[in-house]
Amino acid sequence: MRRSPHRIRPALAVAVAAAVLVGCTGPGDDDAFRPGAADAGDPYVPGRGNGGYDVEAYRLRVRYDPATDRLTGRASVTATATVPLSRFNLDLIGLDVTEVTVAGAAATHRRDGDELVVTPPRGLPRGAGFTVEVAYAGVPTAVRDGELGSGGWLHTADGAIALGQPESAATWFPVNDHPSDKARYDVEVTVPDGTEALGNGVPGERTSADGWTTWRWREDAPMASYLSTLVIGDYRVTTGVHAGRPTVTAVAASLPADGPAARSVARTGEIADFLAARFGPYPFASYGGIAVADDRIGYALETQSRPVYGPGFFRAGRPNPSVVVHELAHQWFGDSVSVARWQDIWLNEGFATYAEWLWAEHEGGRSAQQAFEARYAVTDWSEPSVDPGRSEMFGDAVYQRGALAVHALRRTVGDETFFRLLRGWTAEWRDRTATTDDFVGYAERAAGRPLRPLFDAWLVGATAPALP
Ligand SMILES: [Zn+2]
Repeated sequence: MRRSPHRIRPALAVAVAAAVLVGCTGPGDDDAFRPGAADAGDPYVPGRGNGGYDVEAYRLRVRYDPATDRLTGRASVTATATVPLSRFNLDLIGLDVTEVTVAGAAATHRRDGDELVVTPPRGLPRGAGFTVEVAYAGVPTAVRDGELGSGGWLHTADGAIALGQPESAATWFPVNDHPSDKARYDVEVTVPDGTEALGNGVPGERTSADGWTTWRWREDAPMASYLSTLVIGDYRVTTGVHAGRPTVTAVAASLPADGPAARSVARTGEIADFLAARFGPYPFASYGGIAVADDRIGYALETQSRPVYGPGFFRAGRPNPSVVVHELAHQWFGDSVSVARWQDIWLNEGFATYAEWLWAEHEGGRSAQQAFEARYAVTDWSEPSVDPGRSEMFGDAVYQRGALAVHALRRTVGDETFFRLLRGWTAEWRDRTATTDDFVGYAERAAGRPLRPLFDAWLVGATAPALP
């Protein structure tokens, strides 16, 4: 994610410590059926995610009418029980659930706040694969977060935008809403004829019947739920092929056809190639980007294979390739290799910020070394990059201090080892989730030397580290 320029930060609220719910077991009852946990145990997103199962795939069929803001959906969630499950939760915000089946048999369901609690007719043994079908409908809502801003389903003048970090998915489908459980997605979205409906991944066949058009999108690489998006409305859609893969870009019809947003998004393929030369092969089967016009989207987000750009980046009247660099860098750092828990978000933002430094140098602006020196001089070392606190998830320590740590690594191990290390990391950890310790451990093995003191100093030390 990158915030738009001049964005006003929401007032800081007091962080509320999450009660972490853990499925309890007594001694000797390892095979006893028991409820799955009601959240992922991540204090940055209390209540989000669930335990007891692992999702492989979401098959979503949704119909949305912008005139009424009403959505009807059928979600088919294919998962594997990781403990013997008597019941389990999915995250779902608002919306009315009309029917739930598990393995084709009617299941008992109830709502508990933002949780959908499902009790299958029989317990699910550890390791058992199962499919949950949920029929639901209603007017989707946004999630308003005093610390992090709003996310979720935003009804716009001409349609809707489903977007947000760290959460958005649960506002339009039942989901294990935490990046630790990545899955494949197969989405069909039906909208009135003449309205565009954009999603993640490779486009499928588009069909029309009775005044409604169904758009199909498929993302076969594992995707974290917050990286899913739906953008519905009046858009100019451009399709093509880049490096043998489909490219889909879209620009809100209310923005100029040859304006700064359109011209920035049009550089997606070129910028992805620039990054691939440094980070390793582009990790997904499609490319793209979506420029929206709604001012309430005060940020850009790295939604998988198809980032969404808010209008604030293009106000200066000239193209802004830098934000495209940032969001495309996340395709490697954040999307393909995802955080296992939000406290490690510098692994996403530090590298995406560093990619902007590399791009500026490539474009003839200041060098990465100059960007590093300038940022070093103004850094507040009392703010840690790792586990910065929920309210500082998108703070300078995560972005700028994270990028400083990346450059300090480069200065310490040298360019050859540094870029080999980055390409090795993105290859070895592709489609997975990782922590800071995973990265430090990998870097030490790749460089053949201890690097923990370096990362400690640059990521979390309370005083300015010595320049490498
Ligand atoms: Zn970012």
